[in-house]
Amino acid sequence: MTPMALPSVADVVLIGGGHTHALVLKMWGMKPLPGARLTLINPAPTAPYTGMLPGHVAGHYPREALDIDLVRLARFAGARLILGSASAIDREARTITVGDRRIAYDLASIDIGITSDLPDLAGFSPHGIAAKPLGPYATRWAAYLGGDGPAAVAVIGAGVGGTELAMAMAHALHARGRAATVTLIDRGSALPGTVPAAARRLRRNLANLGIQLLENAQVSEIIPTAVRLADGREIPSTFTVTAAGARPHLWLATTGLDLTDGFITVDRYLRSSDPLIYACGDTAHLAHAPRPKAGVYAVRAAPILFANLRAALSGSPRKPFDPQGDYLKLISLGGQSAVGERNGLTLEGPWVWRLKDRIDRRFMDRLADLKPMAPPPLPAEVARGVRDARGDKPLCGGCGSKVGPAALTRALATLPASTRKDILTRPGDDAAILRMGRTTQVLTTDHLRAFTLDPWAMGRITAIHALGDIWAMGAAPQAALAQIILPPVSDPLQARTVTELLDAAAEIFTAEGAEIVGGHTTTGAELTLGFTVTGLADRPVTLSGARPGDALILTKPIGSGTLLAAEMRLAARGPDVAACLAEMARPQGTAARLLREAHAMTDVTGFGLAGHLLNILEASGTGATLDLAAIPLHHGALDLAAQGIRSTIWEANRAAAAPRVFHEDSPLTALLFDPQTAGGLLAAVAPDHANPILEAFGTAGYRAARIGTVTDGPPLIATR
Ligand SMILES: Cc1cc2nc3c(=O)[nH]c(=O)nc-3n(C[C@H](O)[C@H](O)[C@H](O)COP(=O)(O)OP(=O)(O)OC[C@H]3O[C@@H](n4cnc5c(N)ncnc54)[C@H](O)[C@@H]3O)c2cc1C
Repeated sequence: MTPMALPSVADVVLIGGGHTHALVLKMWGMKPLPGARLTLINPAPTAPYTGMLPGHVAGHYPREALDIDLVRLARFAGARLILGSASAIDREARTITVGDRRIAYDLASIDIGITSDLPDLAGFSPHGIAAKPLGPYATRWAAYLGGDGPAAVAVIGAGVGGTELAMAMAHALHARGRAATVTLIDRGSALPGTVPAAARRLRRNLANLGIQLLENAQVSEIIPTAVRLADGREIPSTFTVTAAGARPHLWLATTGLDLTDGFITVDRYLRSSDPLIYACGDTAHLAHAPRPKAGVYAVRAAPILFANLRAALSGSPRKPFDPQGDYLKLISLGGQSAVGERNGLTLEGPWVWRLKDRIDRRFMDRLADLKPMAPPPLPAEVARGVRDARGDKPLCGGCGSKVGPAALTRALATLPASTRKDILTRPGDDAAILRMGRTTQVLTTDHLRAFTLDPWAMGRITAIHALGDIWAMGAAPQAALAQIILPPVSDPLQARTVTELLDAAAEIFTAEGAEIVGGHTTTGAELTLGFTVTGLADRPVTLSGARPGDALILTKPIGSGTLLAAEMRLAARGPDVAACLAEMARPQGTAARLLREAHAMTDVTGFGLAGHLLNILEASGTGATLDLAAIPLHHGALDLAAQGIRSTIWEANRAAAAPRVFHEDSPLTALLFDPQTAGGLLAAVAPDHANPILEAFGTAGYRAARIGTVTDGPPLIATR
């Protein structure tokens, strides 16, 4: 047995994609612990590296430069990523609340940083913006910087972070040639904890940039045009940032864990008062060696947390965390110059900035330098053809692993012709239409090889995928049977996985008025999920019926096969993958109802847009013209197609469809053969219905588009 085939027996959940956890993911990917399943919970697909935030605000780095891509890291580590914020921990039930989900854990670690918002300050919510979390601040700053006219900025909190940000914003405004006032406000003295020599240098640089420093000034309110002080003064500001200290996340108080000033108290092994919960980074208080909140400690804690999580799971020896006393502080000065300070010694100049830049980039490179897992080596002697049949790329999940259309058509052709009068369709249609007395039932089945490590996302998207044929036939979903193949896991993990799969799927079926009535589960090499679904329809919409002149409407973007293939190879951008999965997870009941008058309809799945459109054209005896520029695409898919990334089934799709599609080879036309999982509905509708339907789609939030026209002639596709 290889380690891959060992059963999983424990769920390790990392809450927060902070610096420690990001590094632990990297280490885990390089040295996984067989038997442990890893989960990361983070609100966004990326986590910002704050060390480069001032440089970004000043205009030296693009936003992507400071984004740690958690989707890539999670895939590298073999971890599932749940996008959401943890809001509670039930330590008795051993579950973590994320939205309306409960994530079970056997061992957990918390690395969620701090927040610098000031919710109790009057006017903060409508008119202030916290420096942390970074995402909303960076977005609003980019919009503010791009505006016209004189700027007025205030930063509340003159610690090192606030001082750096004030200088960065002043530099960026000057560089754009905007007249600006920048004020740095603190209720006490500026730059506490900084040695006098460094403070002197920083004050001089503040003055050089024209930044007004207000010390011992108590802020009483933020208004749209100013910061109001307790003594009645109003400091002009139309962009007010708060960087006033580190506030712990309030929900931690509900966990029952021992806290120090709201931060989780941990021992020298980074263990909280509950031995099953660890904590690290800014959110933790090191009881044995208290330290200021600084990224350097979060980074240094990573190998210790990695070792101690493994120790808790395997019994290997634990390691104590002995954080260094002082560390090299590098504080950027707006332009490409910085002040450095360690052990009382201070340095200043462009070379200090270059040193900081090098250290920061090295950190980011470490987290971005991820190589996909190489396929296991072939035995020395194998049958001829094995190498070609296996290929050099990993087998895709979802529809990317489907059997190609040519092989399927050949196999279906050998089936005996139907002799039953109550079966109204031939094999190969989207779904069977069965006549039962005066009722028409449609019947379909679909199953998918796992394309995500999150059973909940898998359950939801597979249910939507399986319902696609029912929706495409204009039927009302009725009942579903589940087929589940689980990879080897212990009994408790089996129960967790099946519960997540079915809960997510049931939510989709129930919302459509259908019920899961049973199914079948078995254990196999890897997770596979499928549903057999029935629906009821008075007048099913079929593939035939498209008429020349009809408008072709597609209800979802294409390119998901390319994105999923790239994600497995660590080649896709995390935010693109997250957006694609969110689109795949969008049900299509509303879309199907908007298209109920369609002349012909199908769902775009494994054979790609071209393959499924050709099915309509063959059944209807028509041709079509596709307007390539109008086809909606998943973000990032075109770039990946241009890099030559293709799904496993792509070549078979292209071979089957390309001879009937007049096109020039390009990244865009490559996507016509891209397999879609839970793809959109493709409908031929009367031309005068197209615009009102598209308006309704816009209102309902779909990225639907009119992508072409049905034409007279043989079943061929022209492109323009
Ligand atoms: C302007 C500025 C400049 C700085 N410069 C430096 C520097 O140069 N050097 C240095 O050492 N330190 C610096 N710091 C401090 C440094 O940013 C922090 O110490 C460091 O980011 C802490 O890392 P962390 O791992 O604790 O968490 P963070 O990096 O804050 O990451 C926390 C993660 O958890 C996620 N999260 C939050 N809540 C939840 C939840 N409920 N559920 C799930 N996930 C959640 C967040 O979205 C985030 O991805 C700076 C701070 C600021 C404000």
